Amino acid sequence: MKELSYLNKYLYKYKHLLLLGILFVIISNVFAIIPAQLVRDAIDLVQENLQLYFVFNGFELQSDVYTNIAGAVLVYAILMLVMALLRGIFLFLVRQSLIVMSRHIEYDLKNEVFAHYQQLPLSFYRKNNTGDLIARISEDVSRVRMYLGPAIMYGLNLLSLFFMVIPYMLSVNPKLTLYALIPLPFLSLSIYFVNNIIQKRSEEIQQSLSGLSTFVQEAFSGIRVIKSFVREEDSLNQFDKASEDYKEKSLKLSLVNSLFFPLILALIGLSVILTVYIGGVEVINGNITYGNIAEFIIYVNMLTWPVTSLGWVTSIVQRAAASQKRINEFLKTENHITSELNIERELKGAISFQNVSLVYPDSGIKALNNISFEIGEGESIAIIGTTGSGKSTIANLICRMYDPSEGEILVDGQSIKDYSLPSLRGQIGYVPQDVFLFSDTIASNIAFGKDDISMDEVLRASENADLAENISRFPNGYETRLGERGITLSGGQKQRVSIARAIARDPKILVLDDCLSAVDTKTENAILNSLKGVMQDRTTIIISHRVSSAKLADKIVVLDDGCIIEQGTHKQLMKKNGAYRELYEKQLMAEDEISEV
Ligand code: ADP
Ligand code: MG
Repeated sequence: MKELSYLNKYLYKYKHLLLLGILFVIISNVFAIIPAQLVRDAIDLVQENLQLYFVFNGFELQSDVYTNIAGAVLVYAILMLVMALLRGIFLFLVRQSLIVMSRHIEYDLKNEVFAHYQQLPLSFYRKNNTGDLIARISEDVSRVRMYLGPAIMYGLNLLSLFFMVIPYMLSVNPKLTLYALIPLPFLSLSIYFVNNIIQKRSEEIQQSLSGLSTFVQEAFSGIRVIKSFVREEDSLNQFDKASEDYKEKSLKLSLVNSLFFPLILALIGLSVILTVYIGGVEVINGNITYGNIAEFIIYVNMLTWPVTSLGWVTSIVQRAAASQKRINEFLKTENHITSELNIERELKGAISFQNVSLVYPDSGIKALNNISFEIGEGESIAIIGTTGSGKSTIANLICRMYDPSEGEILVDGQSIKDYSLPSLRGQIGYVPQDVFLFSDTIASNIAFGKDDISMDEVLRASENADLAENISRFPNGYETRLGERGITLSGGQKQRVSIARAIARDPKILVLDDCLSAVDTKTENAILNSLKGVMQDRTTIIISHRVSSAKLADKIVVLDDGCIIEQGTHKQLMKKNGAYRELYEKQLMAEDEISEV
């Protein structure tokens, strides 16, 4: 329950709906109780007048008595109809206020969770898998909504009915009340248990189903591998097994479901039998009238649904509390990558790493070890090294996806931590190593990083990324859709779209993380040449495992296992006869061999 108190701020926000809901619940119950009393009066009236009717047996007045009774019954019937109509109207209003409130809160909560997700650092996304993040925002929020809507509605209904009906029943006849109500707590308890079983089994089914769909998804996205290795039969067997599991769980659930209604009906029936029997005894004793029995049967029926719902409501509230707990855990995760000074200014682009080390907080891997280097305004630097040497980590640090564990990074002489994050990242054009393109048009993908960007800028960016000619060959040019239901680009084309996206926003600092790995060295040269113009007055960091990418750079840093082993210009490093030269010659030779073949 403590976890659910987080939602009180939303209940407060929509208090007008909540208060209206409470009012409508009470009014609708008034219109439910009045008809029961009308039934009692009608039956008593008929019963008394029937005696009169028989007294007048054989007299002419008898038919008058009959018309009187019929007239009165008709009036009662009409009154009851009106009450039922009014009750219906107020029940409609109850849902319109309470359920509508829960939908509003669901919407707000989803937005809150999503907004919170987005500002959390990358390390958060490495710790939690995407499935978990989706579950919080969809399943868990839905469960919380069940508490805010149906649970609150039925809870209020039960409370108000209890306080209105039971005191009245007691005032009529305490003994009859007691007997009539005895089965109800059992009803409530059994619903609670049965409902918990149903929920648990439904969850198992849900899990089995999601396992099944993951399997199918993988089977079809990997269909090329499955076909070429002739594993169709094996794949079918696995599917069959997963399917069987789902079927068995569903059958188990339907067994419990089939027991559910008979159980409720049996307990309600027991209530009615007790009411009629004890009521009959009380009538014989002269304590109550026939009408009271009828009235009580109606009350018992009126109370059964809310009492049934009590068990249901309890389990909804428990599940909602568990869900809200998980949501709260995420909402409490803090973003430690923030800025105190929040400096917003145009960058010139000088970057300085001073004795920077980084241990990744989640894996404990020391990716950088005491690194220092300088890049002047508008200069370009190449960072060369084998896989796993820490190159991408440097890019992560420049974009401030992580903060160094030791040392400091300065941008224009100011600590990188002092800049406002949106302003800093807004002036960096980052081409990540693993390209990500949205299922959207090529133009939208390129325009992604900047609000109201003109088509001219998009064209220029793709020109500079050596992409324009490729695009002109696509059926719909820039309006060609990518991804699902669109076309699939080759690795090199994807990388170039990613480059175009980074330069289209006209950044002061350009970070190219191994972004030409999917093209051959010849194309790489062509692309680098067309990038030359773009790089002119921007600070550019070219990260690559190929020395051929480094030629253009003013300065070269060679990384190995998180340490800088050499730095200087191409000429200086060649003269030095060290690791760079060795790498250079090895890679050039490999290339020659390839071109000879
Ligand atoms: P490179 O780009 O040179 O191939 P990286 O900078 O990506 O190398 O990785 C350096 C080391 O840090 C590797 O051992 C890698 O496993 C580890 N690493 C990279 N990214 C992360 C991360 N986000 N969390 C934890 N460890 C990481
Ligand atoms: Mg890398």
